[in-house]
Amino acid sequence: MPTTVACPTCGKRIIWGSESPWRPFCSERCKLLDLGDWLDENHRISEDLESPDSSSGTTRRWPEPDDEDGLARH
Ligand SMILES: [Zn+2]
Repeated sequence: MPTTVACPTCGKRIIWGSESPWRPFCSERCKLLDLGDWLDENHRISEDLESPDSSSGTTRRWPEPDDEDGLARH
């Protein structure tokens, strides 16, 4: 009975063996997606730290589409 693992990205079960070259991911796409998520998270954190608005005492975030009315009102 072959050993199987769940893809960390999509949860699909794959066989842990030479037929699964992207293990523990099910495919190259899932491997790249996982790496992309990690890099994106890192990028956001560094942007917050380097934000010049951090000295104003408020946590400035890029407005979500829902926040545009609040900014325009001001
Ligand atoms: Zn997958």
